[in-house]
Amino acid sequence: MAFERDRQQMIADIESGIAVTRMMTGRDHFNPRVMDAMRQVPREDFVPADMRHAAFRDGALPVGHGQTISQPYIVALMTDLLDLTKDSVVLEIGTGTGYQAAILSQLVRQVYTIEKIPELAEAAQRRLGAMGYGNVEARCSDGYLGWPEKAPFDGIVVTAAAADVPPALLDQLGPGGRMVIPIGLPYMHQELILITRDRQGETERSSILGVAFVPLVKGA
Ligand code: SAH
Repeated sequence: MAFERDRQQMIADIESGIAVTRMMTGRDHFNPRVMDAMRQVPREDFVPADMRHAAFRDGALPVGHGQTISQPYIVALMTDLLDLTKDSVVLEIGTGTGYQAAILSQLVRQVYTIEKIPELAEAAQRRLGAMGYGNVEARCSDGYLGWPEKAPFDGIVVTAAAADVPPALLDQLGPGGRMVIPIGLPYMHQELILITRDRQGETERSSILGVAFVPLVKGA
């Protein structure tokens, strides 16, 4: 299979990332289902054609419109932190290429994903459809507002950095739900934050590790 060695290297890089960060994340391994999804989803098909050779690199990659696809380890970490099950319904903010949505689609019942740049939203929608990821619904709108008609969500993952947690997203996180979101200013220190909501509705935040994301931009 094409890119098979690169794919194996990517998995090895994710495993080293897990080992290096385990004190911060509290996780010394990721769920095997998450690792299987990372193995199975063809990352090379989500990056621009002239970037395919670099698709498996251990870093973020530009995908046009000033946006980036996250480093494989970060995609795996954010997915793992959500503790998803086959019955979960999850919301992603920042569809970008659709790669993270495709990973999520392997693990849950339904994925909803929102992108604010129309060209990226359309391309991702087309790609996910053509590749057969049937349980992903995508739309072009302002992710700050979430997708209230489809709430509550068991998991919410925000793949762009916000200064604060968007209140609508917090409202749409169901009991027992988990949200992973990078918080911080553009090009400044950002922290990956995990928010959990218990069955009584109380939320708790913990900081996982320092990250670098493109900004979540308000307004569609
Ligand atoms: N998850 C993507 C990478 C996301 S990059 C992937 O797997 O490829 C962050 C994305 O968030 C960019 O595409 C950017 O356009 C989008 N974005 C930024 N602000 C947004 C907002 N308010 N609502 C929805 N999407 C937003």
